[in-house]
Amino acid sequence: MSKRIRVAFDLDGVIIDKPPLIPKKLIEILFRGFEKDGLHYRFPKSKLEQKIRKISHFYLFRPPIKKNIEFIGGLAKDGKYELYIVSSRYSFLKDETEKWLEKRKIDGIFQKVFINMSDEQPHLFKEKVLKKLKPDIFVDDDCELVNYLTGRVETKIYCFSRDSSYARVTKIASLAEIN
Ligand SMILES: [Mg+2]
Repeated sequence: MSKRIRVAFDLDGVIIDKPPLIPKKLIEILFRGFEKDGLHYRFPKSKLEQKIRKISHFYLFRPPIKKNIEFIGGLAKDGKYELYIVSSRYSFLKDETEKWLEKRKIDGIFQKVFINMSDEQPHLFKEKVLKKLKPDIFVDDDCELVNYLTGRVETKIYCFSRDSSYARVTKIASLAEIN
């Protein structure tokens, strides 16, 4: 039997959409901080901010990116693929993440869901997991992070553009056929 193709997906921006009513700019500031240069991600240190983030990650506030999920579901049925989630969500979002996957009924299709339990900088966390897991493909929506990872890990890394919902799906579809 030939080896199954390992495909890993980022969670936010690939599988899970942003909350519809919160301006994108605000989310970016909360996530990255005000520093514009380079890769730096904010970790919300205060309990209050963590609480707010937890609430904003309540599953009903985070719609699924349906077309991608359908596509990933198709890969899961195919049997040629082994699917993973590699998300840099911080440890305090563990319950919200499990709940979301369970409520959307996709918790069963992934071999393993990695989240950032030691609250490391997201790019360093993902680099570490990908080096260990060695998936064939990793898809992330953060192009800066994709640039960082490219060349540092053996995995083929793709930045997933959200320009059009159609492009989204076919992009991932064509990635899967590469191998
Ligand atoms: Mg993302």
